[in-house]
Amino acid sequence: MPAEIKRTGMLLIISGPSGTGKGTLVKKLTDLDPSFRFSCSVTTRGPREGEIEGVHYYFVTEERYDELVAQNAFLEHATVHGHRYGTLRQPVEELMEQGYNVVLDIDPQGAISVMENASEYVSVFILPPSFDELRVRLHTRNTDDPVEIERRLNNARGEVQKLNRYQYAVINDNLELAFAQLQAIVNAEKQRTCRFHPTIFDT
Ligand code: ADP
Ligand code: 5GP
Repeated sequence: MPAEIKRTGMLLIISGPSGTGKGTLVKKLTDLDPSFRFSCSVTTRGPREGEIEGVHYYFVTEERYDELVAQNAFLEHATVHGHRYGTLRQPVEELMEQGYNVVLDIDPQGAISVMENASEYVSVFILPPSFDELRVRLHTRNTDDPVEIERRLNNARGEVQKLNRYQYAVINDNLELAFAQLQAIVNAEKQRTCRFHPTIFDT
């Protein structure tokens, strides 16, 4: 980037039902595009096998979560599938001030809350190719028990109703195609004039 062009980071909201492939797409994006940083959420849910503190989530007690709510530490927070999840405000703001793009993987309640309060954001809803395929993916992922999977599938129907609150939608059928579509959205959004602060003519 030329030294005389400063950029403001983008707040990218990736949302949609559980099992649609949000995490898979977000990981590909952050692995391949060094301008992106993942916003690591706080949750009261217990860690799944392989999940790492501070990488996948900050795992906290109900009491600690309540403290963070009381301190207004969350940009948004919501109860999702019976557990509590929140996006920490400070790291998101700091990263964006440093010029990074920040990606949030959050549920539709949290996404709509951010959309109602943030002045600038890019929102993408990830759709599964079908309800049956969503069920298959949740079972294949093998991270949740059958009761939890049914709960997530039931919630998916209501979540998809919120689709038109978002700016973009991507159907994650073929992963490579879905990722190419996400990259196309992101690449266009990076070029919005609001992100550029040319200081070249400053005296
Ligand atoms: P989410 O973060 O939305 O809950 P994940 O990224 O964990 O979803 O994906 C759910 C499961 O589906 C995972 O096992 C993942 O490997 C798989 N998956 C993701 N995208 C695809 C795809 N396009 N085709 C088939 N399986 C997929
Ligand atoms: P999981 O338990 O499968 O990791 O996540 C369940 C749901 O919670 C997913 O839809 C995920 O996007 C959402 N989620 C994760 N972090 C946050 C967060 O900080 N805020 C909100 N509102 N939802 C989140």
